[in-house]
Amino acid sequence: MPRDPVCKMEINRDDAAAESEYKGRTFYFCSEECKESFDKRPEDYMEKGKKAAMK
Ligand SMILES: [Zn+2]
Repeated sequence: MPRDPVCKMEINRDDAAAESEYKGRTFYFCSEECKESFDKRPEDYMEKGKKAAMK
């Protein structure tokens, strides 16, 4: 099940309040607020588990 990258909630695609594409992946959000947070700073939410080792 996809996970809201902002609040880490599991999101049922059918129930997603919002979705956003970033770097060819689709992300699902529980609310517009989470989507807005993601859209502002997507890189902050891309990493899961990994610490910022991409720089
Ligand atoms: Zn959320």
